[in-house]
Amino acid sequence: MIGIIGGTGIYEIVTLGDEIDTKVIKTPYGKSPEVSIFELHGKDVVFMPRHAKGHSNPPHMVNYRANVYAMKELGVERIIATNAVGSLEKTVKPGDFMVPNDFIDFTKLRPGTFYDSRTVHVDVTEPYCNYMRRIISSSGDVVENGVYVCTEGPRFETPAEIQMFKLMGGTVVGMTGIPEAVLARELEICYASICTVSNYAASISPNNLTIDEVFEIMEKKKHDLVSLMDTAISKMGEERDCDCKHALKGAEI
Ligand SMILES: [Zn+2]
Repeated sequence: MIGIIGGTGIYEIVTLGDEIDTKVIKTPYGKSPEVSIFELHGKDVVFMPRHAKGHSNPPHMVNYRANVYAMKELGVERIIATNAVGSLEKTVKPGDFMVPNDFIDFTKLRPGTFYDSRTVHVDVTEPYCNYMRRIISSSGDVVENGVYVCTEGPRFETPAEIQMFKLMGGTVVGMTGIPEAVLARELEICYASICTVSNYAASISPNNLTIDEVFEIMEKKKHDLVSLMDTAISKMGEERDCDCKHALKGAEI
């Protein structure tokens, strides 16, 4: 089963498939948002709106553990996430898609692990699934590779923060990518992200940032995003032969 955890702009992927079912999954961490399970290109796919219906949970209040745990419960082996990001690089423009290969975590208040009573140090030398990144990058016009900086939000970043992230090697900045990617790895689920650049970050952009500009770009790019996702799913093989399925090997004390 392939899971999609989507933010703004990807909801209509469900309409491409034959809808089978909608469900809410109970987990030890709380209930998941209502998910839609459907068939696409002969594959079972589940779509989860990250922020729940109507975008009611802001990035710092999303129950990432319940979301990822619910995916595991449903039998998901691969997750494609979508994230809206601001760009730190003039060459990575609003409207571009980027597939990150690494991240820097600046979140502060989010439970970031499933392992509170066992000591598990999961390896994140390759934080995103290489196989899935390759498939997505060959499915459309995307910027391959880049470093995703995750902030706590919900406020946007200051110019000084953006300059610091740039010096550290960041390519884009967002609020929803972490701990989701790490939690997936902790459950040995393959995970890759398609980032949609919605604007330039503070001080890279000549203007103050507004949520309207974010939604405007996401609205403009949503058909391209859905079509990129659709092609990527059609190309994904049945069996996993990447290292993600052994992510816990050697991780536990
Ligand atoms: Zn993988």
